[in-house]
Amino acid sequence: MEKWKGRVALVTGASSGIGAAICEDLVKHGMKVVGAARRIEKMQELAKKLKNEKGTFLPVQCDVTKDEDIYALFDKIKETFGGVDVCINNAGILGRGLDLLNGTPEEWREITNVNVIALCLCSKLTVNSLKERGLDDGHIINISSIAAHQVLPFGSSHFYTGTKFAVRALSEGLRQELQAANSGIKLSVVSPGLVKTEILDKITEKLEFAKRTFELNTSLKSEDIAHSVSQILSAPPYMEVLDIIVAPRGGL
Ligand code: NDP
Repeated sequence: MEKWKGRVALVTGASSGIGAAICEDLVKHGMKVVGAARRIEKMQELAKKLKNEKGTFLPVQCDVTKDEDIYALFDKIKETFGGVDVCINNAGILGRGLDLLNGTPEEWREITNVNVIALCLCSKLTVNSLKERGLDDGHIINISSIAAHQVLPFGSSHFYTGTKFAVRALSEGLRQELQAANSGIKLSVVSPGLVKTEILDKITEKLEFAKRTFELNTSLKSEDIAHSVSQILSAPPYMEVLDIIVAPRGGL
C-alpha cells in the first residue's frame, strides 16, 4: 500500500457496510479518501472517527442515480485534491429481494441505475481524470457479488443477480478497452459472498439460498472485504487481480 500513500481514492456507498470499512482501511493506509453516498451524516460520523488517522476522509453527499451528482462529485474532487487515482465502485442495492415475477420496472430501473450505470460513469470519469493529469497508474475496483458467478436458486433476488452479471461483463469489457489502449490503469473485481450489512435489512422475501449461511453464522464482516481491496492495491505492478470471490466458509 506504500505506493498509494497520499493518493486519492473515491469510494461510493461509503455511508455503511463494506464501503465504510473500505474507507476506514484506506485512510489508515494514508490515502486521501473521498466517500460518496446520500446519508452525509453517517459519513460525517466516520470522518470524526478517522480524524487522527494517517490519511484524510472527505464525505461528499451524492445520489449516484443522478448523473449531475456524479459530475459534481468529480468536480469537487478535482478542485480539492486534483483528481481520482483509485475508484472503488461499491454503492449497490438489492431492493426488496423479490423474485423476478414479483418485481416492478420501477425497482429494476433503480437497481440498474445504482449497480450498473453509476459504476460505468464513475469508471469513465476516473479514467478521464487520470488521463487529464497525464497519469497511467490508477486502479478501478468494482464490488460485485458471488451472485455474478451463479444464478442463485429460487428465493433470491434474480434482478440483482442480473445486474451483478452485468458488472462482471462490463468490468471485463473495460479491462480489454484499457489494455487495447496500452493503459497502465488496472481493473479488479471483488465478488463477496454474504456479508452482514444493512443491505439485508430491506429484504421482504426470505433469501432461501442464504439460510445455511445464516444458520452456520459464518457471514463475512465488511472488514474482510476491505482487506481484500487493500490486498489488491498492494499487488506488484506486473500483477493484475481480475476477480476474487470471497465467501464465508461452508456457506454462500
Ligand atoms: P449497505 O446497504 O450497507 O451499503 C450500501 C451503500 O450504497 C450505502 O452506503 C448506501 O448509501 C449506498 N447507496 C445506495 N444507493 C445509493 C444511491 N442512490 N446513491 C449513493 N449511494 C447509494 O450494503 P453493503 O455494504 O452490503 O453493500 C456494498 C456493496 O457490496 C454493494 O454493491 C453490494 O451489492 C455488494 N455486496 C454485498 C453483499 C452482502 O452480503 N452484504 C454480498 C455481495 C456483494 P446511502 O443509502 O447513504 O446513499
